[in-house]
This record gives sequence, C-alpha cells and structure tokens, in this order.
Amino acid sequence: MPDFPIWPQCNIACVFCSNPVEGFRHTTDKYTLDELKKKVSDYKSGLRTFVKFDEERDYFNLTGGEPTNHPDFLKILAHIRTEFPRNLIRLLSNGRMFAYEDFARRTCGIAQLPFEIAVPMFGPTAATHESISRTPGSFEQTTAGLRHLAEHRRPGQLVEIRIIMTKVQARWLDGLLDFLLAEFPWVDRVVFLFEEIEGFAEQYKSQLKFTQSECAAHLDRNYEKLKRFKDARLYHFSLCTVPTRLWPFVWNTLAGFKVTYQEGCRTKCAYKDQCVGVHRSYIKHMGAPDIAPILAERPVTLSGDPYHPVATAEERVFQP
Ligand code: SF4
Repeated sequence: MPDFPIWPQCNIACVFCSNPVEGFRHTTDKYTLDELKKKVSDYKSGLRTFVKFDEERDYFNLTGGEPTNHPDFLKILAHIRTEFPRNLIRLLSNGRMFAYEDFARRTCGIAQLPFEIAVPMFGPTAATHESISRTPGSFEQTTAGLRHLAEHRRPGQLVEIRIIMTKVQARWLDGLLDFLLAEFPWVDRVVFLFEEIEGFAEQYKSQLKFTQSECAAHLDRNYEKLKRFKDARLYHFSLCTVPTRLWPFVWNTLAGFKVTYQEGCRTKCAYKDQCVGVHRSYIKHMGAPDIAPILAERPVTLSGDPYHPVATAEERVFQP
C-alpha cells in the first residue's frame, strides 16, 4: 500500500493535519503530471519510490494535500489505472471537489475497479464541521460530494467516511453519528482513526490531545450506533485501551516503523500477538499513560487475521 502523495496543497485547513509544516505545501513543481508518471514507472519497475509502505504491491493510497486539487487529477488517475489495472486505488479526499457533479461522475468512470474513496467528516452541521475544517462552505460541498458519489459510483466502488478522533472531534461525535446514520446509511464503511499528532497538528497539541482510553470511552458510549453501520472500524488503537466489546471493531493498519512494544507488552500481555502495539507519537505527545499489559484472557474469539484480529466479543461492558 504505497501512500502516493499527488498534490501538496489543500483546500481545507484541518486542525489535526499531519502534513509537514515546512517544505511541502509550496512544492507543486515536484508534482507535475510528468513527475508523477515517472514515479509510477519507477515503482512498476521495482525501484524504491514511496516513503510509506513502498514494499506493498497490491494497492495505492492517493494522498496529499488534497489529490483532487491537482490540475491533472483525472489524467493521473487514468494513468495509474492503465498501468495497474487490477490494483486497488484508494483516494483519500476531503470530498469538496465532488460537489461538482460532472467531476464525481468522471472520477468514478475513470477509476473503474477496484476503487475506494475515503472522505473525512467532522460534524453534523456547517458550524460544527467547519470548526475543524476551518473553511466556510466545506460542509455543504463535502456533503453534496458524498451524495454525488452515491449517485455516480459504479457497482463495487466503495465510499468510506473517516472520523479523526481528537479531543475537539469528540465534542461532535454523538451528533455526527446520528447525522451519518440518517443521511448516509448507504456508506460502506465508517473508520475512526486515533489521532497522530504530527506536522501542522503539533501547534494545536494542547487542544487536540487526549488518551486512547478517553477516546475509546466516547466510542463505547455510541456502541449501539457503531453496530448499525455496515462496517465500523477503529484504526490505531492499542487493545488494552479499548473496552473489550469494541475489540471486534479494531483493525491493525499501522506501519511497523510507527509503533513499538513496551516491556510489559513483550513480557506479560496475553494479546501482544493480536495488538498493533503502541504508536510512537502516542508515547511522545501523550506519554501513553493507559498502556498496561492484559494479564487474563477476555471473552472474545480470535479470527487469526493479523489485520482484524478479533472476530467476536461478549457484549456486556467489560472495562479493563
Ligand atoms: S500491553 Fe502492549 S501489546 Fe498488550 S494490548 Fe497494550 S499495547 Fe498492546
């Protein structure tokens, strides 16, 4: 899964943005159509090309900035699809450009299969959403974009909504989930990502940071709503910080270089083999105060899948 950044600039200004503060936004000359085609060609011929997940060969995450703001976005998408006709292309986009219906239709037509679009949502109203995107009009455009994707996506193309779990996001969580269940019940997947405090986000650290356990408590309060989505997932959570009944929602997606295992993880934890470990930025910025080895087995069945390790859990509340 190479993360393939295709455009460094962005048309929203999320408080949690992990893009680099220096030496990124103004480097558009490194992202011309020819430069990007060269990267695709290098990657296809086996050269080391991408910073993140270069060794993965089965799919691309198109990232930015905002990929759809690239002036040649549709040409780049067509080129990748031609060169890799069977690879999953996952587009990480804030969704605003899909407010232009023709752009949504053409993107879905060019991308073909397999194709996924992941769009972040922050709140159930313009005021709440834009308190995090910090861009007037972005709520209206992103929600219009989602509706156009529902209309124009081809069978098998998936739409995912991403919720980046920060302290400021938690204030709007309950209302946002009600809104998504009412307005976008067709969405294929809702992903809750525990924040990574990097890049631009570091300057807002005091407003953003909370512990994984606090974050998981907000999610657990919405347990019944989570069950109503077609597919709800928690990314970047250590198992010991999450109430056991939420474990079936946990997916392990972090790159190995981003995580570590502490002494107690290695020597005492009963679920070390199922756990993603501890994110290094969580140790650096939050001190990881709630990481503690799990000493006894929990009422769960394991799946054997390292990415989605827990198949089922008893529904009773079982707090660590
Ligand atoms: S103690 Fe370590 S290995 Fe065990 S669940 Fe927590 S983070 Fe994971």
